[in-house]
Amino acid sequence: MRDLSLETPERVVIVGGGSAGQMAAALLGRQLIPLGIEVVQVQPADGTGIGVGEATIPSLHRLLDNLAADEQDMMRACQATFKLGIQFSNWHHKDEDYWHPFGVCGAQIDGRELFPYWLAERFRRGVTRPYQTYSLQWAAALAGKSPHSFGGDSPISAHRSYAFHLDALAFSEWLRQRAADTGVQSIIGSVIAAVCRDDGSGIDHLVLDDGKRLTGDLFLDCTGFEQSPFSDFGENRFIDWSNCLLCDRAVAVALPARRALRPFTRSTALPSGWAWTIPLVHRTGLGYVYDSSSLTADEAVRDLLELAESDGYDTSQVTDANQPLNLKVGRLANPWRGNVISVGLAAGFIEPLESTALHLTQLAIELFLELFPLRTDNTQQCSEIYNERLGKITDEIKDFVQLHYHLSARDDSEFWRAARNAPISNELQSRLATYETCGWHGDMLGEAFPPESYYFLLSGNDRYPRQPSAVSLSCDPERIGQVLQEILDQNSKVMRELPLHEELLDWVHGAPKSTTGRLF
Ligand SMILES: Cc1cc2nc3c(=O)[nH]c(=O)nc-3n(C[C@H](O)[C@H](O)[C@H](O)COP(=O)(O)OP(=O)(O)OC[C@H]3O[C@@H](n4cnc5c(N)ncnc54)[C@H](O)[C@@H]3O)c2cc1C
Repeated sequence: MRDLSLETPERVVIVGGGSAGQMAAALLGRQLIPLGIEVVQVQPADGTGIGVGEATIPSLHRLLDNLAADEQDMMRACQATFKLGIQFSNWHHKDEDYWHPFGVCGAQIDGRELFPYWLAERFRRGVTRPYQTYSLQWAAALAGKSPHSFGGDSPISAHRSYAFHLDALAFSEWLRQRAADTGVQSIIGSVIAAVCRDDGSGIDHLVLDDGKRLTGDLFLDCTGFEQSPFSDFGENRFIDWSNCLLCDRAVAVALPARRALRPFTRSTALPSGWAWTIPLVHRTGLGYVYDSSSLTADEAVRDLLELAESDGYDTSQVTDANQPLNLKVGRLANPWRGNVISVGLAAGFIEPLESTALHLTQLAIELFLELFPLRTDNTQQCSEIYNERLGKITDEIKDFVQLHYHLSARDDSEFWRAARNAPISNELQSRLATYETCGWHGDMLGEAFPPESYYFLLSGNDRYPRQPSAVSLSCDPERIGQVLQEILDQNSKVMRELPLHEELLDWVHGAPKSTTGRLF
């Protein structure tokens, strides 16, 4: 029963049936329908979306919480595997790797993260083990281990320092089912027009392809890269990042799954971009994100298959090859304008190097719900806060992704020279300058990645501050050495107890348990 003011929105309409539309429907259904607010979703019968978002980051646990969903249930539905981080091969120099494991590294000292102390040790001794060596997630990834035991326990799961690889279309379907369970009404069809209110303050109603009108108070535009029916409404300036992130196209192929599945994403730098390798239970996904001015789509598929062969895959069994996807890199300056909120690819796109699109979509919907205008006359204020905050978060993620290129020392193609020298934002410039002065990287929103992520990336690319911080230098060196050794000992102990990735996957997906196949 409605017990809210008459000005409360009565109906929210979601347009689109890709991951963004389904995620919005599932979350809004759960949180708004109990308030008596109708949630209606319009999606074409064949509109499953582009279906290529296959790697996630740890914030997906929050989505599971918000949907009261079970990890195992989601994993089974989505043929999912575990992800402990990303291995970047050939990114800094050819034939070298660096890593971005999830979560914190090792243990804190005096309530501070390990990095400044590791740096002090490195400074004193000249050389130490690489920073990532102290990350339990890295050690587990390298050894092909699971993030937790069969019972779900481990220091990695206690901090939720892991994520998943999942079948994007199956994930959409899993979300769609959850949305339906909450009572979201689904209309099969397409929106052909969004008609403005007389005073121009917002959209009054949508016109569907069967000629019907659909009114609403708020409209979530989840129509992806396609021309949106809302595109002419409001101040919809697009901030174009194609001069900073040069990859503008992607091809993807699917290969049969292997037995020993890596619990991490591999990103391999290639002469005109980079390729992902994502292991799922039923297949392996590979994709090449590249600069179309230096490579054709056929060449991209050829290079991708060569890479797969060098990685031991039988490429005679390519089960699927997508049409090349054009990537429109950038973001809307105002994703929320009037009563329209653009979410997912309709709001912007950053190449999937750090698997942040589903995360940004989730964050946008969560923020929308936090700020949900229970009185329609509050909409303006909510939208301003939303646009400012989401803009900053998206910019920070873009900077983090661009930093991978900026730090690369590859000099073997025009693409890498141009990518490294592409302009970086003032914020990133100042963050790098502060880091180089004293090793500090704390002035971030950190909504996607904590300062630790920057430390892995910077140290992995041989970028160190000129000197360690005074605080870390004042710590007894013996104590630092002792803590570093204790971390290694503790990690080894935990590692012995963790099951192999394939063992836990067998258990999760219900297959008989067996232990074969090593990763390396
Ligand atoms: C190459 C590539 C790799 C990626 N990898 C990752 C990754 O590893 N991890 C990650 O998190 N993300 C990744 N992403 C991003 C991820 O694919 C998207 O975030 C995700 O697919 C959500 O897309 P979407 O729902 O916004 O758009 P789409 O999937 O394009 O869905 C749009 C929906 O809107 C519908 N629609 C369009 N117009 C209308 C209309 N007029 N009326 C009604 N419905 C309409 C369409 O039919 C479709 O259902 C990747 C993206 C690309 C391009």
